Order: sequence, then C-alpha cells, then structure tokens
Amino acid sequence: MPSSKGFAAQDAQSSLGPYNFSRREPLATDIVIEVLYCGVCHSDLHMARNEWGQSIYPMVPGHEIVGRVTAIGSGVKKFKVGDIAAVGVIVDSCRKCAPCKGGEEHFCAEGATLTYAQPDRVDGSITMGGYSNNYVVDERFAHKVPANLDLKAVAPLLCAGITTYSPLRHWKVGPGKKVGIVGLGGLGHMALKFAHSLGAHVVQFTTSAKKIEDAKRLGADEVVVSSNKDAMKAHTGSFDFILDCVSAPHPLDDYLPLLKQDGTLTLVGLPPESPSFGVFNLIGGRKSISGSMIGGMPETQEMLDYCGKHNIVSDVEVIRIDQINDAFERLLKQDVKYRFVIDMSTLK
Ligand code: NAP
Ligand code: ZN
Ligand code: ZN
Repeated sequence: MPSSKGFAAQDAQSSLGPYNFSRREPLATDIVIEVLYCGVCHSDLHMARNEWGQSIYPMVPGHEIVGRVTAIGSGVKKFKVGDIAAVGVIVDSCRKCAPCKGGEEHFCAEGATLTYAQPDRVDGSITMGGYSNNYVVDERFAHKVPANLDLKAVAPLLCAGITTYSPLRHWKVGPGKKVGIVGLGGLGHMALKFAHSLGAHVVQFTTSAKKIEDAKRLGADEVVVSSNKDAMKAHTGSFDFILDCVSAPHPLDDYLPLLKQDGTLTLVGLPPESPSFGVFNLIGGRKSISGSMIGGMPETQEMLDYCGKHNIVSDVEVIRIDQINDAFERLLKQDVKYRFVIDMSTLK
C-alpha cells in the first residue's frame, strides 16, 4: 500500500499542516503518480473550511494534479512508467450508467468519486487529494499532457481549464458571438483565454480596476469594472452568453439585463450562498440561467489537446507547500495572478 505524505486540514478552522497516510493498493488498471505540481483551486479553500457543508477530515485538498507515472498495473494501456499524467476533480464513477457510457462521468447517476474528501469506490477509504507526494488512480481518470506545454502551468487546466472550456463549447461560443466573463480569477482567466482563442468578442467583468491591463493582455476585447453602472448599462441586451466565475455571493440582476433575447448566463462559480435574481429579468427576452460542472474524461483530454495545439496554459505563481495557508488568505483578497501552483518537490 503506497505510503503518502501531504498537507491536510484537520477541521474547518485549522490551517493546513503535514500529514502522513496510506493510499489504496493499486489495482490492475491503476497507475501510481509522483505528484510534481498541484494547482490551488478556490474549491480547495471552500472545502478545507467546510463552506459547502460536505467536508470530511482530515482532508488533503488538491484536484489539479500533474505528475510522473512511477508504477502501472498489469492492465494499464494508456501509460508507461516515466510518462507524465494529469488528474482533475474526479477519480472514479460507476462506469455503467448512461452519462458514464457517454463519457460524461462527472454526471454519473450514482455520483462520481471526487479526488479528495469522498469514500473511495474500491475500498471505502476517504480519498486524499494532490497536496501530497503521490496519487493512485485508474487510468480512465488520468490524462495525457501535450509535450510542448509547461507542466507547472498545465496543472490548473485540470479544473479551472475544463470547467470553463466545457460550457464555452456546449453553448457554442465562437466567431460572431459576444461573450462576457465575470470574475478574473483562476477560472475567469482560463475562460478569457479560451473564449478569445475560440474567436468570440470577449468582455471581461471585474470588481478589481487594477486587473484591466491584465485582462486585455489575456485576450479581452473590452473590460468593464462592474461597480461602474454606466459602463454596465452600455452593454444592455448585447450578450449571447455570460460565464459567471465568481467565488463569493453577488446579485445576478447586474448581468441578466445585459443578455440578448434567448441569451444564457451560466454559473460555474460556487459561492457558499447561492446568488439571487429577479424573475422579471428572465421572462422578458426568454433568458436562461444555467450551471456547468467540470467536464467528462474525453472532453478533458480534448481540452488538453486543444491547449497543446493553441499553446494555452494558465498564468501561475509557483509556491512552496509551506506557503499554502498564506495562499488561501491571498485568494480571498483576490491577490493571485492568476493561479497558485504548489511545487510538490518542496514537500519534505
Ligand atoms: P478565484 O481564483 O478566487 O477567483 C474568483 C474571482 O471572483 C476573483 O478573482 C474575483 O474576480 C471574483 N470575486 C471574488 N470575490 C468577489 C465578490 N465579493 N464580488 C464579486 N466578485 C468577486 O476562484 P476560482 O478558483 O477561479 O473559483 C471560482 C469559483 O468557481 C469558486 O466558487 C469555485 O469553488 C468554483 N468552481 C466551480 C467548478 C465547477 O465545476 N463548477 C470548478 C472549479 C471551481 P475580480 O477580482 O475580477 O472581480
Ligand atoms: Zn477546482
Ligand atoms: Zn455512472
């Protein structure tokens, strides 16, 4: 049984600290990964602090994993020892239901197994995430990484990347479409890069005036500071699609009037308290509010391959594992450009 070390939260109030544990014995279709880099998603902070009320402790967070394969089971076909492998938000599912058969494992009828803080389908142990030295995972839930990409900047693609790529694809964002991205954080900056790359006219909404120049550099055609009511009003009735990537409670009524007839506002941000909206802002113009969650395994590989082809990665600030508690505080202050990534070689 692979022995592991990582950084864990012991309860909702404690900061993260060193923690030793064991992972399950690898099965025939499992690979063992030495974790090289792990991104710091705002979901890790929500989970570590039990902001969604579903946390299990001790908790080793981390679901943006890039690593090197150190062992493979006898039935593994996709990887060999020494390969680079990447793992995202889910690590297992029932594999029999219609969504699983259709490659939408994240919508598994039985519920997919999360990378951390959920019972493992194999042995019932609680999954522990990527803020650790290794991971054991079925090869179906691990991805190949294009060789031309910088590995530390690839890690955030496994959550922030797929979570934004999937809805942009589903709602057919492309040339001739006007698209808004709300919130320029880890998810938001990937959404901006993808929407720009897909050929849409992209407007970035931000609460932080200091991010205007960065937003333009990352691909925004226009940037609106959302506290500027006149600038917001100037976009009334003009958007085909808006992707909301905000981590804190905020009113959707600021954005619904900006949609065109039949336009869609899709929520990927998961604030602890759900955002409110006025129904009158939906009925005039037959507008929709929808949600989207990560992506299935085939689409995650498609996204990585797209990134390889178009040379897209995350803008990252690499930190040591012992800086993780400070990184959480900085996330809350919107002080990250634009994703923290832990260099796991700093875990001693
Ligand atoms: P992040 O890096 O902290 O970015 C969040 C952004 O939201 C901030 O940069 C900020 O952008 C904006 N923001 C923060 N507080 C705000 C406030 N009070 N009012 C308005 N805007 C505010 O977080 P992230 O890692 O991108 O994650 C964003 C959210 O998505 C989290 O809730 C996370 O749990 C969720 N998530 C969902 C999925 C999914 O599958 N649906 C997957 C991953 C993450 P500006 O400074 O530009 O205003
Ligand atoms: Zn995430
Ligand atoms: Zn299933």
